[in-house]
Order: sequence, then structure tokens, then C-alpha cells
Amino acid sequence: MRDPRYDILFEPVAIGPVTTRNRFYQVPHCSGMGHRYARSDAHMRAMKAEGGWGVVSTQETEIHPSSDLTPSNQGRIWDGADVRVFREATDLIHERGSLAAVQLVHNGLHTANRLSRIAPYAPSDAVVDLDDPVQARGMDKADIREFRRWHREAAIRAREAGFDIVYVYAGHDMTLLMHFLLSRHNHRIDEYGGSLENRLRLFREVLADTRDAIGDRCALAIRFAVDELMGSAGIERDGEGRDIVAALAEEPDLWDVNLSDWSNDSQSARFSQEGYQEDYTRFVKQVTTKPVVGVGRYTSPDTMVRVIRQGHLDLIGAARPSIADPFLPLKIREGRIDEIRECIGCNICVAGDNIVAPMRCTQNPTIGEEWRKGWHPEKVPALAGPATALIVGGGPAGLEAARALAQRGASVIIADAGAEWGGRVSRESRLPGLSSWARVRDWRLGQLRTAANVEMYLSSPLTAEDILSYGAEHVAIAVGARWREDGVGRAHRLPLPFLKNGKTAGVDRLLDEGSSAAGPGPVVVYDDDRYYMGSALAEQLASAGIDTTYVTPAPLVAAWTVNTLEQARIHRRLLELGVKIRLLSALADRAAETVTIRCVYSEATEVIPCDVLVPVTARLPSSELWTALQARQEEWLDSGLTRVERIGDCLAPGTIAAANYSGHLFARSLGVLEDAESADAFR
Ligand code: ADP
Ligand code: SF4
Repeated sequence: MRDPRYDILFEPVAIGPVTTRNRFYQVPHCSGMGHRYARSDAHMRAMKAEGGWGVVSTQETEIHPSSDLTPSNQGRIWDGADVRVFREATDLIHERGSLAAVQLVHNGLHTANRLSRIAPYAPSDAVVDLDDPVQARGMDKADIREFRRWHREAAIRAREAGFDIVYVYAGHDMTLLMHFLLSRHNHRIDEYGGSLENRLRLFREVLADTRDAIGDRCALAIRFAVDELMGSAGIERDGEGRDIVAALAEEPDLWDVNLSDWSNDSQSARFSQEGYQEDYTRFVKQVTTKPVVGVGRYTSPDTMVRVIRQGHLDLIGAARPSIADPFLPLKIREGRIDEIRECIGCNICVAGDNIVAPMRCTQNPTIGEEWRKGWHPEKVPALAGPATALIVGGGPAGLEAARALAQRGASVIIADAGAEWGGRVSRESRLPGLSSWARVRDWRLGQLRTAANVEMYLSSPLTAEDILSYGAEHVAIAVGARWREDGVGRAHRLPLPFLKNGKTAGVDRLLDEGSSAAGPGPVVVYDDDRYYMGSALAEQLASAGIDTTYVTPAPLVAAWTVNTLEQARIHRRLLELGVKIRLLSALADRAAETVTIRCVYSEATEVIPCDVLVPVTARLPSSELWTALQARQEEWLDSGLTRVERIGDCLAPGTIAAANYSGHLFARSLGVLEDAESADAFR
């Protein structure tokens, strides 16, 4: 049963005319499954309701074709057809006892209207904040009247769609209402520009319009960014942030407060701790009597209780913690704290939105697959009869395969060659800022250790002979991958023979031995992987006082981390640590004490001092075991093996999220006739 000290989290809270059953509030978050995969989105949200989130919100939902984020896949409530689509979502949420909230948005100058081809709207003439060669029109009074009408009509549609809470959204520097508030975007000289009261005018009008539209059936919420972390150049907690909350204090039924822009709001664990927004949002409750929700990657029930008891928030807002574990509230309610699958703060979910694909999660392999594949995060169908499974390798792929197979009722043996579980997760979690990544291992170990049908063996490097002699029916080879040291990656598709002219320290050695493996320096980290590894190693080396140069053929440091919203912070951190940075450069030559790099666009070269080169380019699957097993394929049947598969990084190296998903898929597809990767296997 639940610990009474958590009772406070299960108190109902009145939000205007509606009441939420508890204090767990899934704030609006993108999913990559907006208007194009609306049913997938609806069932993902419904799962949050089933897992106990008292309020479940949509992602930002465009009110009109003049706010068209194509090709991004946000929500749309442009017309009556969209109302019918959202009805399905709100019905599912209501059936599970939760309130449904919709975050209406007009994106102002944060859109190029690529589909609708309408000239974007802004308080004043301005270039849009995307890279498109598009300018927004400065709105005249007729435009303002039109915008108000669109917002009002969208609010009416939201009510018809069954939503209980309707948002007016001024956050993330992404919405027209925020653009009007900000002096840097609003240069008007009429009653909508200039003084704060004038810049607030449209916000006040839209709040009144929305209240009028939704009547007394729905609650009205404001989502507002109280600080932009840019000092006096933007909204600040101790400046206009406070003034705006004070000016509108009692107008909404709920304040949903956070930081702007999105990279400040959704900071990754590499750059922030649980509760990182508290210092900014704490003041809001002192200024309003209305309930306040805020976020901060809260996964610990004790922290949640503290935040409520200290009068900082009334409702615990969550996006990422609700993605990593849709059943977090229920687990607290039922006293199953140890079973909470805590978000690791990696922002792979965020990347889903940015790459315009249904989101995925490093911790929760079922997210986004609730409707498409029919996957439930807590339940896996039991196997039809007894089965034995051997999992070789205890990294994220192996641990998840073993865990889910045990949950299905198989007798599972998992063995790892190493002295600790977790594979790459354990090694990578020792990199600076990534300690929370060990949660991927720890949650799975916790589940496996309490299962009666699992045997676990460390320090057990298995051979093909061992595997054949075990006689398990189902075998997953999850032995991972090794980093290449020959320079092959994206820029160089063939090995670089000149690398042997000097010393090289591979990524695996650095992960195992720490920065001492690179000697005293100078060290050159060559990053053609372009995600986190190169920059994390450069950070580790520079922090150890080693002279470090970071070289990449990409135009940005850790280029793919644009998608996880970390790129600017990573670049800044390397600069702060004195790392020298060379962009748009590939490897051209190597001598004992130097490396020559060449511009990717020209023949220009530069010689850089280099004692040890760290190539961070690509990985090669560890294939020896698979090759040996395949060579003895005719013995499989006699040994009792019916299915042998490679999963995770030893099939194709990728993210930890992909390895986890691969392990989960292996477990799910056991006993299922159709090929789990086939087009028929998901809707
Ligand atoms: P993935 O990301 O696919 O889970 P990892 O590289 O994280 O892969 O983990 C692979 C694990 O497999 C490592 O912990 C490694 O020690 C283990 N391993 C490698 N070869 C063998 C083997 N022959 N027998 C048992 N375990 C192995
Ligand atoms: Fe958390 Fe990472 Fe999952 Fe996002 S992808 S919810 S940050 S664990």
C-alpha cells in the first residue's frame, strides 16, 4: 500500500469549473504524432490517463492555417474534421478518469506556413525565426481582429471536442501571444506596442475571448514562460516575468509556468538536475491564488511532496517523466516506488519531434507504439506455454529482452562476459553529466532480480559451444559493438592508412580506462559520429587538464544534438573548458606528433599538435559469436534452438533507445507468427 507521506499527491485540485483527481499533471508536450498520426497520439495520451495522470494534455495545437508548422507534425484544430479526431482522444482520456487539456497555439513568426502559403503573422514586420527566406507581416488592426476570431473559434471547437482545460499559450518564444509581449519582436507604436500594458493588450483580449468561448464548462489555463535565461534582453523572473503574472494573476483558472526557449525548458540531464526550474517559478504562487503547475523532470515522489509542501507548486507537471513511465502516478499510489522507470534526461523523446518522427524513449520502448503495435508499457502477453531463453550480453538490449521475456513467463538465463551489468550504459554513464543514464540498467536489474524465473551470470563469456550446450529454445545475441579506430565514418568511407603514423586511443579504451588512456596530450578528438560521444570525451579530457582539440567534418559541434536541444550548451561548455574547435574539417594526414586536417570544401589544410588521436566515427558490431554460431547452424535443431537472433548494437549499432527497443521487440515477437518488422505487424 501507499506510504501515507505521499497522500498529498493524491488530493483532488479544483481548476476553475473542473477538478483533477490528483496532482499529477501531464503538461503539453510534442510527440511527433500530431495531425498525421492522430490515433497513435490519442492512444499514447490515453495510456497516461490509465497510468494515473490526473490531467493529460495535447501538444501545441494549431488554431488556423496561418499557423502551419509543416512539415512538423503538431496538433491541428483548424476545422470540424479535427474536432472529430480529438473527440476520440478526449473520450479515451475521460474513460480512464482524467481531464483532457488542449494547448491552442498560433505560432506567429515561428512558422513559415510552408503548406498554406499564407504570409506569417507577427506584431511587427520581421524575418521568421526559421531558416526559410520568409518574412512575417506586421499585423494591422484587421489582422488582429481576424486572429482573435480564429482563436475564439478554435476554443469553441476545443470545447466541442470534449476538452476540459483550454490553454492560452505564451511560451517558448514560439507563439504570437508571446511575440506581442516581447519588446524585441513588438515594435508597434499603437495601443498594442510600447508599454508593458500595451504589449499585454492582445493577451488580455484573447483571454477574455477564450473565456467567453468556453463558457463555464471548461477551465482556462495560461502557459507562460517566466524567464528566458537571456538577462534583460528577454523576459526575466525578477522583471517583466513577475509583472505579467501579477497583471493577469486571477484571470486564468490555472497557471502553467516554465522557462523559454524550449532548450531552456527541456534541459537534458547533462546540463541540469531534477527541479532545475524551481528558482525561476517559485514566485508565481506568491502572486496568484490560482493553482500553479510547473515542471523540472520530477521523478522522485519525495521531491514532489517537498515541492507541494513548500508551496512552490500545486500540481506536479511532467512531460518526460510521463513518457519514460506513463504509470508513475499509479506506482506511487500502489506503493511500488521501486518500479518507477525514471526518465534519464537524454532528450531522445524531444528529438522525435525535431526529426519529425513519432517519438521514442530511451527508457520506455513502448512509447508511440500503443496503438500502432498495440504495446502496453506495463503488460506483455503471457507466452502460450513454457519456453526457455538464453540472452547473451547484458547491455540495454540484453537486459530488456531478458526482462520482458521473464515478464512473459519464459525461463530466462542472461550471461555477460564482463564484471558488471549494463554494457555500454554502465561505461557511458561514467562520462561527465551522464550518470543518470545508469537508470536504464538499474531499473531493468531491479525487475530481473525480483523475478523468480531468471538466472543471471556475470563474468561469463559464452562461446558458440556454450550456447549450443545450454539447449535454450530462444537465443538472443546481444553482445554489442566496438568503436572503430580506422577513421571510417561518414566523411571517410575507407580506412585511413596514415593513422598508423601516430598513436591512437580508441573510444572503448577511453571508456574503460578514463582520460589517462590518452596520456598527457595534446589530444585531438575527431568526431564524425556527430552525436554526444565525441563532445563528452573532449569534455572529459579537457576537464582532466589535457590540451584538447575537437575536430569534426560537420558544421556544428555534436551536430545531431541540435535535435536533443543540447547543441549550443555543448559548444559553450567546450569553449569554457578551453577546448580548441575545428569545424568542417576531415582528416588528411598524421605524423608522430601532429595531425593534418583539411577543409571539407577546399584543399586548405592545417597542422595541429597531436600526441594521441581519438577517432569517434562509427562502430562495428561484435560479430565473432554470431559468425561461429552460424557456422554450426546444422546443429541448432538438435541442440534445441528454434530461434537465434542478434539484437541491439551487435545487429546494427545505434542509440541506447534503439538497443532497448530491439530487446523489447525480440521479447514481444516470441510466439507471434508474423514478422515483427513487416508492414502488416503495425497499423
Ligand atoms: P547493446 O547496446 O546492444 O545492449 P552493449 O555493448 O551495451 O550492447 O552490451 C553488450 C554486452 O555483451 C557487454 O556487456 C559485453 O560484456 C557482453 N558480451 C560481449 N561478448 C559476450 C559473450 N561472448 N558472452 C557474454 N557476454 C558478452
Ligand atoms: Fe526521459 Fe530520455 Fe525517455 Fe525523454 S527519451 S522521456 S529524456 S528517458
